[in-house]
Amino acid sequence: MKYAKKSLGQNFLVDKNIIKKITNLVEIKNKDVVEIGPGKASLTNEIIKNKPRTLSLIEKDNNLAEKLRLRFLKNKDIKVFNQDFLNFDIKNLNKKKLIIFGNLPYNISSQIFVKILKFKNWPPNYTDLILMFQKELGEKILGKFQSKNYGRLSILSHYKLLSVKKFFVSANCFFPKPKVTSIVIHFKPKKQLSFKIRDLAKLERITNILFSNKRKMINKNISKILKKEDVKKIDNLNLNSRPEELKPDIYYKLAEFIEKDK
Ligand code: SAM
Repeated sequence: MKYAKKSLGQNFLVDKNIIKKITNLVEIKNKDVVEIGPGKASLTNEIIKNKPRTLSLIEKDNNLAEKLRLRFLKNKDIKVFNQDFLNFDIKNLNKKKLIIFGNLPYNISSQIFVKILKFKNWPPNYTDLILMFQKELGEKILGKFQSKNYGRLSILSHYKLLSVKKFFVSANCFFPKPKVTSIVIHFKPKKQLSFKIRDLAKLERITNILFSNKRKMINKNISKILKKEDVKKIDNLNLNSRPEELKPDIYYKLAEFIEKDK
């Protein structure tokens, strides 16, 4: 029986061209690499061919993690962590310029992405993030202001990351075949952040509150974030706007203001 757990979002990549296209997005040689959810190692094997200095594999599935551990037992530069990435502290790897790959499990890919965004250090300990998402989610992450995909995720993502390249991956490239198309996005951390938000959870909270009803003007919900007298302290904050009509900078200013106010 072919082994695949739906609950862990196990759709394994089988298309060799796509695997190469993903690993060719970045120079791997002599770099420290992390892979989230290596599964049956299809991407992993191609990463190894490109000679990383070290490779850390984080796999939640006990069975698959054990197979990986046995397979790479003799290679001291490859470490397998049988852990849930959501509970894994990447700081413990003690590396500064990681490349992080992940063909993410669909069911928790936005949680994994937000966890990476919330890493506190800046500049972060990664130089490249190469992640695969379900197409619709990826488009939400990329959504520019004034596009239909603009929203909480794109506001969070644009605060810290630049997306440098993307391509779609057909469901036929996987086994078992998912019902959806996927998208690979290559992100790089922004060199300079234009606002100082220490705790991204603040920004997350603000976007969650204001986007809780996309069609509604923000005048009611804003009271959950700001005192009445503080509204005028945020430039261009028009209370008759809908959340999607506010530029990302206004969300960043709000988060910055709330942190200073504490
Ligand atoms: N990288 C492989 C590939 O491209 O064929 C597998 C990709 S599959 C879409 C997602 C992988 O993530 C599975 O191996 C699954 O067991 C693993 N996974 C699911 N949830 C996880 C979690 N919370 N932490 C780490 N790995 C997880």
